[in-house]
Amino acid sequence: MTIENSIMVFIEQRDGKVADVSLELICEAKRLAKSLGVPVTGVAAGHHMSENLKPLGGYGCEKVYYTDDKRLSYFTSVPYAKVIVKTIKKYHPQIVLFGASTTGRDVAPRVASEMKCGLTADCTELKIGNYKTKSKEYKNILHQIRPAFGGNIIATIVSPEGGISMATVREGVMKMSALDISIKAEVIKETCDLADDDFMTEVIEIVRKEKRVNLKSAQIIVSAGMGANSPEALKLVKELASVLGGEVGSSRPVVDSGTLSRERQVGQTGTTVRPNLYIACGISGQIQHRAGMAEAKRIIAINSDENAPIFDIAHYGIVGDVCDVIPKMIKAYKAEA
Ligand SMILES: Cc1cc2nc3c(=O)[nH]c(=O)nc-3n(C[C@H](O)[C@H](O)[C@H](O)COP(=O)(O)OP(=O)(O)OC[C@H]3O[C@@H](n4cnc5c(N)ncnc54)[C@H](O)[C@@H]3O)c2cc1C
Repeated sequence: MTIENSIMVFIEQRDGKVADVSLELICEAKRLAKSLGVPVTGVAAGHHMSENLKPLGGYGCEKVYYTDDKRLSYFTSVPYAKVIVKTIKKYHPQIVLFGASTTGRDVAPRVASEMKCGLTADCTELKIGNYKTKSKEYKNILHQIRPAFGGNIIATIVSPEGGISMATVREGVMKMSALDISIKAEVIKETCDLADDDFMTEVIEIVRKEKRVNLKSAQIIVSAGMGANSPEALKLVKELASVLGGEVGSSRPVVDSGTLSRERQVGQTGTTVRPNLYIACGISGQIQHRAGMAEAKRIIAINSDENAPIFDIAHYGIVGDVCDVIPKMIKAYKAEA
């Protein structure tokens, strides 16, 4: 038995290409691993992807335990769960992280159930710290932080007794650091006895739908809230986004009202964004919205209520009606451009 005391990241892939969320998790794992003095490792499954795994070293992943099988080319729940469980049982990491993607959400609970340990879904922050009960103190365990009770509280969850702490983290929440191309990960080939019966789902065809809106990679986002949900205000929000070369985002109620599409929603149940500039137009700044945009480099908030919570996190606040303020911003920008 190898007790490795590592932080292990599930390396998600599509067509052999490592998903961004896994890179983000490796970077976060590296930060956590530093305070524990342990390495970051990866567990991967796929086919002919060794070369795509080596660059993970440049993000901080020292070793990747990789199971290669043609039948693992595409994700299916049971075989992937088996591969991950086998790797965990072999190397005994103390923390295992998954992306809270559809793949991660599918496979992580299966793995946690098999390992008989807790799993905290949709974490927004991870920390290493101590935890004290009446009779015992646990040192250096994973604090899994996430909104709970509909986002009304921020809960810190620990799994002190489970042996392993497992968590899923949404895409975009953790910051990806720059790749150091000079460092390569050691790819260690693993085997897993997978029976044909394990492949209960057969992938017959993959139909890809191009994303029309890519909020995650937009450097400027102009978002509409309920205070900008009128046809006149929305037109101005779209015009400002277009003039600045940005993307239109929104709060959830605007999406729920049917005015903008779901892919534009920013927040806890939408997309997490980190643009250079985020302009919040008529958005109150409830915690569920802030969860998705508070890490923007610069935040400008326009709101008619000077006490709106969005002003607490905005770098620049403008108190006023969006229909008065936005035309002035457009005019000023055009005059400077
Ligand atoms: C489980 C859960 C998940 C959620 N997930 C998300 C999520 O992912 N994203 C999200 O956004 N929300 C989410 N919400 C909803 C969230 O709680 C808030 O209800 C929502 O963010 C409020 O949207 P808003 O700021 O657009 O609307 P409001 O809270 O109604 O605020 C409108 C703001 O506009 C201002 N205003 C009004 N008229 C004008 C004007 N003419 N000019 C300027 N300002 C004006 C008002 O002063 C007010 O501050 C979630 C809620 C729950 C329970």
